[in-house]
Amino acid sequence: MKKILILFILVSALSGCSLKSNDDDQKIKIVVSFYVLEYLTQRIGGEFVSITNLLPTAGEPHDYEPSTKDMVTLSKANHIFILGNQFEPWFDDVSKTIYHKRQEVLVVSQGIPTIVNSTTNQIDPHVWTSLRNNVVMLNTIKNELIRIDPDHKIEYEANYQAAKAEFETLDQEFIEVLKNRVRDEFVVNHAAFGYLAKDYGLNMIPIMGIEPDAQPNASMMAKIIDIVKQYDIPYILYEDDADTEVADTIAAETGALTGVLRPGESLNVKQIANGDDFLSIMRQNLQWLKKALT
Ligand SMILES: [Zn+2]
Repeated sequence: MKKILILFILVSALSGCSLKSNDDDQKIKIVVSFYVLEYLTQRIGGEFVSITNLLPTAGEPHDYEPSTKDMVTLSKANHIFILGNQFEPWFDDVSKTIYHKRQEVLVVSQGIPTIVNSTTNQIDPHVWTSLRNNVVMLNTIKNELIRIDPDHKIEYEANYQAAKAEFETLDQEFIEVLKNRVRDEFVVNHAAFGYLAKDYGLNMIPIMGIEPDAQPNASMMAKIIDIVKQYDIPYILYEDDADTEVADTIAAETGALTGVLRPGESLNVKQIANGDDFLSIMRQNLQWLKKALT
């Protein structure tokens, strides 16, 4: 009750002072839960959308809890795009507090078959690590934007076709490059690449669980070290910004090197400065997979 009252006061205080320009007022305002949805929505919506990403730069989505400021943003939003697939467990509680007829929520991963992580028995939420799943999500976002704003149907359709072609081109590059691999197994700290592995017939061996800060126990560590030795795996892959201690230990025990594989859940300052985006990160992932599999 207290929370709702505080929120009400904040919303009242902020609603009186709109600093948005007229141009921005014309745009469809969409709040998204993390970077990949920002990227996909921007690709379709182009100049007709204004997107607020709740997850800060270099943010860790598995630990995310909305701040008071985020609650205000969510309560004022007309359109909220979430991934679904239990990726945003915080949203159930939030929606009870903020939800009223003004907000429309799009579950972007709808219709995509999920896979269950065999180690943790949890649904793997990381559907976007499959380039093909991104094409499905681009289509879902396109249909939603056409529903909200039918006047720009032609533009949304054209943006969809252009983005779809880029994702399909990169998918072909993955197929071509990975044709020459000598093993299917890759070791990665964060169990985020199950959907990518499935597309190309690879076998992801995660050190941690679905959440990157879950630590392996001693017997799991021993098992991973055995696998690295057995398949002569040359690189232990981890996302930058992650705790590398375990990956470093495995590398030291086995003589493997460490490399980088990024799920793209958020961009860090360096990636933003480099002009990286989701597709360039996936293209870099392909280069690291090539090293790790050949
Ligand atoms: Zn993740």
